[in-house]
Amino acid sequence: MTQQTKRAASPLAPAWLAVPEDLNALPEPIWAGGVERDNDGVLAVDGLSVTALKEQFGTPLFVMDESDFRSRARAFKHAFDEAFADICGGVDVYYAGKSFLCTAVAAWVAEEGLRLDTCSGGELAVAARAGIKGENLGLHGNNKSDAEISRALDMELGRIVVDSLDELERVAKIASARGGRAKVMLRLTPGVHAHTHEFIATAHEDQKFGLSMAEDSTEQAGLSAAEEAVAAATSYSSIELLGLHCHIGSQIFEPDGFALAAQKLLVFLAAMQEKYSITLPELDLGGGYGIAYTPVDTPRPPAEIATAMAAVVRSTCAELGITAPRISIEPGRAIVGSTTFTLYEVGTLKTVRVDAPASGSGKTAETADKNVTHPRRYVSVDGGMSDNARPVLYDADYSAILASRTSSAAPQLSRVVGKHCESGDIVVRDVYLPEDVAAGDLLAVPGTGAYCWALSSNYNYLARPGVVAVRDGNARLIVRGETEEDLLNRDMGV
Ligand SMILES: *Cc1c(COP(=O)(O)O)cnc(C)c1O
Repeated sequence: MTQQTKRAASPLAPAWLAVPEDLNALPEPIWAGGVERDNDGVLAVDGLSVTALKEQFGTPLFVMDESDFRSRARAFKHAFDEAFADICGGVDVYYAGKSFLCTAVAAWVAEEGLRLDTCSGGELAVAARAGIKGENLGLHGNNKSDAEISRALDMELGRIVVDSLDELERVAKIASARGGRAKVMLRLTPGVHAHTHEFIATAHEDQKFGLSMAEDSTEQAGLSAAEEAVAAATSYSSIELLGLHCHIGSQIFEPDGFALAAQKLLVFLAAMQEKYSITLPELDLGGGYGIAYTPVDTPRPPAEIATAMAAVVRSTCAELGITAPRISIEPGRAIVGSTTFTLYEVGTLKTVRVDAPASGSGKTAETADKNVTHPRRYVSVDGGMSDNARPVLYDADYSAILASRTSSAAPQLSRVVGKHCESGDIVVRDVYLPEDVAAGDLLAVPGTGAYCWALSSNYNYLARPGVVAVRDGNARLIVRGETEEDLLNRDMGV
């Protein structure tokens, strides 16, 4: 390994960001399984170097480790099947397509024994093109159009997750007009909000998703919106009510929130079965399992989450004296997020002097001296908020490494920024990069598999990057990058 000069942490760095021991290392568990440095020190996926990938496909580029995707998908299926085997004979895992979807990925999902969760007609179109059977598809959304509902019925979807009383009525009407039946789950809001390291429980929900479980949530005294929906669903002959659904949030590490939500839904499910003399054979506990974006994130292995959730489902069903419903889950980020890094080329570099931060302010470290300034280097890359909107949208943290070579230069606090006309166009807010990073170097930003390509835009008329899948040392484009012609395609001219 290369010898690096030790450097004290920059006072501008956030408290959580340590100066890495080795800037060339690829810290677990941020990177995909097949990523390592080759003998020349160049970052490589399954032996294929990023310099070769750049040569063939250009930058920016999403580089996905296909084997890693498949093994994460399998790991979820296997871990939950095992943990729930004695409870409900296994678990149906729906990959949340909104995190990243194209036909190749939809096909991998099916090949690995998972199902697919969609939330629009467009996502259903991808699923159809990939040849996914309707029975293995779900459709979400708080405002499905009549056309989307009809399409779901045409495709004989396994489940439509209904989000409101309004929608329940619409689905019932559309199904009835067609002389068929819609398979429906009801999305409930259990009032459990999981955060990264804790969860909070509230009775009332102030958000657009789901049917409230709070008893005063409708005009009808004493009846929750959730119960009203159950009652209505059982009264429609065109609705087959499969069961209940909840999704409590995203990027969650601790299993407690999932367990509490499961418990609340089971208690409600048992009460509804009894009161309305029905059987609700299914319960979906959503997605939201967290991944590592930086070295301080500590994701749990699927087996640990599955075991914790199974324990609660097992004991709650025993206490309630009910047969456990078939459990399903909907991981998106935890399957695709870490499989992918974005490859960028470095352009301009700029160092600014910044006043020492006031003590204890915001995300920054404690040390402060009013008369001293500190350097922050801005490293510009050839993409930005158009290929990764998460830092702008959610203040999300990422990390980055020098990918086209190793370096023994000292670490320097850097901010990786894009090329957009927006000062908030930040890719990685704070990261230590080697001091000698220069124009033409390649940077890799890991953890960009979920909600990056999916949220990409053409802001400033930038072409959206392609996605390349690497498997067994071979690269293939699964989504090609846009060309200038694509950018002008919908412009109807003068
Ligand atoms: C977004 C979403 C998911 C997936 O969330 P992840 O954080 O990617 O696991 C699952 N279910 C529903 C209903 C969602 O909205």
